Amino acid sequence: MTVIAIDGTFASGKGTLGKGLAAHYDLPYLDTGKLYRATAKRVLDAGGDVNNPEDGKRAAHAISPNELSDPILKSGPIGAAASKVSVHPDVRAALLAFQRNFAQAGGILDGRDIGTVICPDADVKLYVTATPEERAKRRHAELTGYGEVLSIDDVLAQLIERDTRDSTRAAAPLKPADDAHMLDTTGLSIAEVLAAAIKICDAVLET
Ligand code: C5P
Repeated sequence: MTVIAIDGTFASGKGTLGKGLAAHYDLPYLDTGKLYRATAKRVLDAGGDVNNPEDGKRAAHAISPNELSDPILKSGPIGAAASKVSVHPDVRAALLAFQRNFAQAGGILDGRDIGTVICPDADVKLYVTATPEERAKRRHAELTGYGEVLSIDDVLAQLIERDTRDSTRAAAPLKPADDAHMLDTTGLSIAEVLAAAIKICDAVLET
């Protein structure tokens, strides 16, 4: 069962890469950020507080797979709330089994702690990033496509805040696993990123 773990910074292109690799290797794909986004949405819908660990834990235990396809999860405010709810260890613990079960049958998972916590024995670990300016430009184009009104500078400020929170939290902080292959996507097209990742995966999987 092949497992490919993709971690990386906000808007680094991990999702697009994950879907591309899933198609190439004919493996199922899980965007684990959606679990945190669905949890945050549940907390907000219930009038709760994403900074409150109990509200987060209750929501994380209640989410079901059919909630993960809700397009509202892609919005900027839900992403920001997900970053807050994901700091709580009980939230992370509640979402662990779902991710491990998914990985058991083989697949591609992207997130922040896949190579370090969820699938430490993954066959291939990729850590994807790009400069903050490039990521801000990409996410700005995506969010304005959904009809959100904000400037690139707003996105850049949110991105720096999000990266800082994700990488400095005590529970499962964002960081490359020791055995991760680093992939800087700055200046690369989607096709170039995919080709670079396939080269790494083929080299590791063939050994
Ligand atoms: O990747 P995405 O932007 O959808 O993730 C939303 C937030 O969920 C991230 O900023 C991060 O705080 C949290 N997350 C996490 N661990 C994961 C995936 C996402 O903490 N494996």
